[in-house]
Amino acid sequence: MPIQPDNYFINPEIKNIPYKKLIDNGDPANKVDLVFLAEGYTINEMEKFESDAQRMVSYLFSQEPYKLFSNKFNVWIVNSPSENSGTDIPGANIYMNTAMNSNFYTFDSERYLTTNDVKSVRDIAGIVPYDEICILVNSNKYGGGGVYNHYAITTVDHILSEKVFIHEFGHSFAGLGDEYYNSSTSYNDFYNLAIEPWQPNLTTMVNFDSKWKSMIDKNTPIPTPRKSEFNSILGVYEGGGYLDKGIYSPMMDCRMKSNEANGFCPVCSKAILDMIMFKSE
Ligand SMILES: [Zn+2]
Repeated sequence: MPIQPDNYFINPEIKNIPYKKLIDNGDPANKVDLVFLAEGYTINEMEKFESDAQRMVSYLFSQEPYKLFSNKFNVWIVNSPSENSGTDIPGANIYMNTAMNSNFYTFDSERYLTTNDVKSVRDIAGIVPYDEICILVNSNKYGGGGVYNHYAITTVDHILSEKVFIHEFGHSFAGLGDEYYNSSTSYNDFYNLAIEPWQPNLTTMVNFDSKWKSMIDKNTPIPTPRKSEFNSILGVYEGGGYLDKGIYSPMMDCRMKSNEANGFCPVCSKAILDMIMFKSE
């Protein structure tokens, strides 16, 4: 049944939130449409939101493989206002009234920023045609989160915010896994080592043929030692997915591992590129 936008079950308040098409590369039916939502910006802070969104977008399209395929994207922004500025920081007893009810300290991890208020997120995003949701949180605290097929969320005013954003967007857009394994954000038993994980950039070697095996040079040892001579070599390095044993990742470093990496490893780049092609014409 076709949707009637003037149906009385559709909340008319939501439709009054201002939005803009920041980048227009064509018909949303044939493009990857990104929408940036304002979280923790008051009505008086929308100029800041627009410049923050512009900065994130500029960074995204300065990085491969997004740079080369930037014409496959449209970008929208929705100026969703919040009562208060910032977000909840439960560990500091800070609670704010914000448009999408985001918070730090998810699973009691200080830097893990998420929202469970999916209904508000989808209501606000639904103002524009979108494929991917990016929530920008008006805070200078370090942190973010990204859930495949749901959303990427990050703060905007930390010195690493752009890198956090592109990392989290790797989760939400391309379903990439975390390649780090010795960080404070670690989950034991997150992965079952007896099965192959579905994330394209991690392997337990249970079914490595289904992953990046065909991309590896035949002279590269498997597993590949974490030694400096292999710094720029695609291989199979033990450590990834929060574990230092039993899970392997494609490179010594990658944006899915650290903020120090130069960018995405070839396996992550390919997964991102595949998703761009899948979601565009
Ligand atoms: Zn990677």
